Amino acid sequence: MNWGLIGASTIASQHMIGAIRAQAGNEVTAVLSSDDVRGKDYADRHGIAQAFTDLDAILSAPAIDAVYISTTNEKHHPQAMAAIAAGKHVMCEKPLAMSVSDAREMVSAADEAGLVFATNHHLRNAGAHLKIRELTDQGRVGEIQAVRVGHAVHLPPHLQGWRIDNPAAGGGVIPDIVVHDADTVRFQLQEDPESVVAIERSESLGQGVEDSVMSVWEMPSGVLVETHESFTIRHAGTSFEVHGTEGSIIATGVMTQQPVGRIILRRDGEDEGIPFSDHNLYVRSMGLFMDAVAGNGAPSATGTDGVKSLAVAMAVKEAATTGRRVAVDYGES
Ligand code: NDP
Repeated sequence: MNWGLIGASTIASQHMIGAIRAQAGNEVTAVLSSDDVRGKDYADRHGIAQAFTDLDAILSAPAIDAVYISTTNEKHHPQAMAAIAAGKHVMCEKPLAMSVSDAREMVSAADEAGLVFATNHHLRNAGAHLKIRELTDQGRVGEIQAVRVGHAVHLPPHLQGWRIDNPAAGGGVIPDIVVHDADTVRFQLQEDPESVVAIERSESLGQGVEDSVMSVWEMPSGVLVETHESFTIRHAGTSFEVHGTEGSIIATGVMTQQPVGRIILRRDGEDEGIPFSDHNLYVRSMGLFMDAVAGNGAPSATGTDGVKSLAVAMAVKEAATTGRRVAVDYGES
């Protein structure tokens, strides 16, 4: 397939161009940027044949079969709707949209058009998270009681743009990171958070948006989930812990784009180091997307997964803003 990049973004240059090119028979042939000079420079630097500044023009290019949308968050919905109307398969960045209803509209439109639509939630592709799921599926921790997610990092200077000062573009740590944690928790527990409480703040980086949040989610099974997301914490490292009646899984350094980290399984007072695959997260995600286009299976994170992760993030935002416990509204009729 030939791919068009909708957005001359950092994530595309650092991970997704390579992940697309790693799939046999796939090439990135065009890029859309709102700025002519930046788009041409981006195309030159990444060996992309064509640069466009007009959405309709890139979507009219007959050779393009699929698009990867990685613009700022408020643009995902209109760009995805246009791409679907033009008959393109879509890999879309998270959060899918600025509202759950817009996200649902994107997913429905792709379904009705018979197109593959996926959400780029990378963490469920990580060897570490696949291994944690395997351990819990095997009952190695017994009945799960609680999950703790540590995803508090220091946002690198080159990403300190719209994320920390532009609410209209979908800035803030809740749309940026809570969505990933929601997807990872849903993947691990195979159930959808029911209600949440949260406190947010803007500590130092955030201007008009939150840069830190802590929340607690209740799952339908009664499992409690505690999460901490931040752009301002330099030394914590990331973690994902699953605590059960027979043991605990303590995974460190695993809420990341790289195939790294460490998993400890603790049972009966003994710690066992658990090895896991170190494959590239984004290459796996794109591989499953290509399989889905070929009619084999579903993408790693579907459009519906993206709707649900957004719904959890919106509930966390509402809970943090109102100080109340909020039922997650998945927008299901
Ligand atoms: P960037 O800030 O790098 O890119 C977003 C947009 O900003 C681009 O579309 C581009 O506009 C514009 N832009 C880029 N560089 C410049 C510049 N030097 N000057 C002015 N404007 C510029 O964002 P990210 O790559 O960090 O994030 C993009 C999307 O991907 C977001 O939705 C984010 O949530 C998601 N993301 C997902 C990750 C994942 O692992 N799944 C990880 C990181 C981000 P134009 O296209 O018009 O040129």
